[in-house]
Amino acid sequence: MLRINDILDKAQAYLAAEELEMIQKAYIYSATVHQGQVRLSGEPYLTHPMEVAGVLVDMKMDSATIISGLLHDTIEDTLTTKEQIEQEFGKDVAFLVSGLTKLSRISFGSQEERQAENFRKMILAMSADIRILLVRLADRIHNMRTLQYQTLDRRIYIARETMDVYAPLANRLGINWMKMELEDLAFQHVSPDAFKEIATRVDKSQESRNRYTEEVKTIILKELEKLFIQGEVEGRAKHLYGIYKKMHEQHINFDEVYDVIAFRIILDSDIDKTCYEALSIVHALCKPVPGRFKDYIAMPKANNYQSLHTAVIGPYGERVEIQIRTRAMHEWAEKGIAAHWRYKEGRAFQDNEDNQIKKLREALEIQQDIKNPKEFMSNLKMALFPDEVYVFTPHGDVKSFPKGATPIDFAYSIHTDVGNKCTGAKVNRNIVPLRYQLQNGDRVEIITQAGHHPSKDWLKYVVTSRAISKIRNWINLEEKNSSLTLGKDLLEKEFKRNNLKFATYIKSYEIKKVMTEHSLLTLDDLISQVGYGRISPRQVVNHFLVADAPKDAEKLQEKEKKKPSASPSLGISLTGIDDVMVKFAKCCNPIPGDEISGYISRGRGITVHTQTCPHLKRLDAERIVDVNWDVRQKHAYPVHVKVVCNDRKGVITEVSSVITSFDINISFAQVETTDMIANCLFVIDVYDTQQLNSIFSAIRQLKIVRSIERIRKA
Ligand code: MN
Repeated sequence: MLRINDILDKAQAYLAAEELEMIQKAYIYSATVHQGQVRLSGEPYLTHPMEVAGVLVDMKMDSATIISGLLHDTIEDTLTTKEQIEQEFGKDVAFLVSGLTKLSRISFGSQEERQAENFRKMILAMSADIRILLVRLADRIHNMRTLQYQTLDRRIYIARETMDVYAPLANRLGINWMKMELEDLAFQHVSPDAFKEIATRVDKSQESRNRYTEEVKTIILKELEKLFIQGEVEGRAKHLYGIYKKMHEQHINFDEVYDVIAFRIILDSDIDKTCYEALSIVHALCKPVPGRFKDYIAMPKANNYQSLHTAVIGPYGERVEIQIRTRAMHEWAEKGIAAHWRYKEGRAFQDNEDNQIKKLREALEIQQDIKNPKEFMSNLKMALFPDEVYVFTPHGDVKSFPKGATPIDFAYSIHTDVGNKCTGAKVNRNIVPLRYQLQNGDRVEIITQAGHHPSKDWLKYVVTSRAISKIRNWINLEEKNSSLTLGKDLLEKEFKRNNLKFATYIKSYEIKKVMTEHSLLTLDDLISQVGYGRISPRQVVNHFLVADAPKDAEKLQEKEKKKPSASPSLGISLTGIDDVMVKFAKCCNPIPGDEISGYISRGRGITVHTQTCPHLKRLDAERIVDVNWDVRQKHAYPVHVKVVCNDRKGVITEVSSVITSFDINISFAQVETTDMIANCLFVIDVYDTQQLNSIFSAIRQLKIVRSIERIRKA
């Protein structure tokens, strides 16, 4: 049992003699008023406030806090009044103790309500003085350490509450040791079997782990010494709940948690730069695991935690996680807000409150008038986990999402079908755009419509992996379907042009050869490859022309020769340069009528861009030459066109029939639908800008068309 002298011994290291006297006085007072009371363990009640004060003195808290620890249950459980405490110990202590008392006084009918209301008052009390919360946490630590004397029901109830609220709260305040101890103590009661198993396994491997730890420590220290960097290396087994969480989250068993030991390099230096030096030594010594480096020095965590984190391949090919920090950073990492406290005097802390605490408090004050305990719990969680957003379903259930999530993420979290058919959303009864970012406390309702489909644009607005993969799946399927239709169409035309029947050849043995040549397994794959534009219909038809009608094929080849297709001087004349390979830039696809420039590419002739092409502007000006159209020979050039239409069935047919009425070839067509708008993309072959302009004005005549533009690439 902790004695008052143990507390005083520790306190005299940093407190004045008068303060020690007051602590002694509080001890006597507490012993007197709690006399005769016993805990469930059978020990005198006094042991509890003593242990709480012991935790607080170890955290090097000020005397008022330690005294409040000793007196925290006096108003609640004895005849003592606030006035008496104020008389004996002053305003400060009376204020803290009455704040603590308020926390334990409220009772409600249902367990859930009681829980919610209590926590709410607790956090609100914290807004008056952070020290109240620290005493409350110390109180919880001791209650958890002696939880075995409670009934099973109470044990589980208290342990759950600790896991849900107190451990995250300790974490939020940056008090790492407390967070870990609370988690391990709660874990033991919430999942006793898992706890026992992990504890036994950690215990069993103790000896070999110690040997290994020493080995790694020695290696690192030796290297640090070589560069005259002073510090120490710690290697400790992770806390049991941490191991359990890792096993659970990553679905692995104990032996696969290779980083059971957390290594930590604590440098004597106070300069951040030394940490980076130590990091480079570690990385030079062992191969780093890519993607595992995190710089919490440049970007501290929300609770002000600073460190460098890295993972390297250790001496046995195993993964070793290493944290590197200065002593000051270490102090904060372990003690958090309590470390901060130490440098402040008395109540000065309150005026000088940490930003994080302020934010936490504000978030909760805004929610003060919320009556529904369920809602309050979720509000509390919001304040404790700032990277998550909590929203309500129409039924009042709480769902959590990563920050930045939109109604689309919400829709997919309900059901794939709801996601796919989602056309809009209402947030707090108002219609919002689908790209709206969900805010804490929003009540979200999804509007669906049968027959509606996801669009590629949605990928820009979603953050959950579920939504991303569901949308991708749908798009892939859709693209495959539309490329099948288009591919079939293109092939039929090409066969017909050569007086062949696609339907006949499709069943022939020869078609298999075409498939093998392109390493395709099915006929559908071949057709969709044509639809995607990866294989031209001509390439497919050629197979049959060669096999069936060699004469036709020869003719065809001749025709190809005549056609000024690829190079040289493809309808382009160059001032002062002859006989040069010319090709058109794929980025802007110039056509006669466009103002153009040539770019001399090394070894690949001249690439022709439109003068407005942004790519051209980025190129080396010295290699840009003047070029002109030479349109003696009429030739068709591909142009990418985007037509925005009101979403109606058959928009693509309507637009393409206008295009084909000009006797223009469509080599690619695609439609995407978003928010009742259809974006059609076409690649059409035109002779010049004049022709293109007349096609454009004809398309503009269509009622369904909202806009049309030539784009650089479909
Ligand atoms: Mn207590």
